[in-house]
Amino acid sequence: GKTLRLDKILANLGYGSRKDIRKICKQGLVIVDNKVVKDSSKHVDPYESEIKIGDEIIEYKEFVYLMMNKPDGVISATEDSIHQTVIDLLDEEHRIFEPFPVGRLDKDTEGLLLLTNDGKLAHQLLSPKKHVPKTYYAKVIGKVTDEDIKKFEIGVKIEEEYTTLPAELVILKSDEISEIELTIYEGKFHQVKRMFEAVDKKVEYLKRLSMGPLQLDEDLQLGEYRELTDEELEELF
Ligand code: URA
Repeated sequence: GKTLRLDKILANLGYGSRKDIRKICKQGLVIVDNKVVKDSSKHVDPYESEIKIGDEIIEYKEFVYLMMNKPDGVISATEDSIHQTVIDLLDEEHRIFEPFPVGRLDKDTEGLLLLTNDGKLAHQLLSPKKHVPKTYYAKVIGKVTDEDIKKFEIGVKIEEEYTTLPAELVILKSDEISEIELTIYEGKFHQVKRMFEAVDKKVEYLKRLSMGPLQLDEDLQLGEYRELTDEELEELF
């Protein structure tokens, strides 16, 4: 397999700076395949070799996959000059992997957000050709009707030249303020909000429930996140 510098491997996993790691190597604390390695620039295959710091066996991984219940008021980007970002909500232990959000939710949208540093997976989930389904729950001002179900089934014009792909609208409650679930197979800017605008209604609360096979873990409070389980990862790949 691929080899990497020992200091890079350990720094990537959050065991300190390269300088820190040079020090602990010099001290004889780093053991690779049962041999003390004092030179932190040594190349090692992190998947093939057993790396220990003292008695602790290091579990190597290159990628991190996180599911967040995004709260209102937080930007789904890695940096923002004014507002808090979803990356600001992560612990150092996870931030060290430099994950980024897979797609965007609006600042005021809540719910399922996947964060990863796996660019290939992100690309697959976001590729317009893949038509990955995304399901949203929304509170909508105005009475959502069966007519709207039909319109969304056919597609509505959200831009001068753009009609949305067929989408599935489920009415949970039809009232002055309606409650719905909507599944879309694309991800245009402000898509759900603009679809309801196209039928003269206004989304006042929006939450993403699922993306492809991933379902929002309802045990996650707003702003909380966790790593994906092995089952979830299997379904994604
Ligand atoms: N559609 C929207 O309008 N906003 C989102 O955040 C996601 C989908």
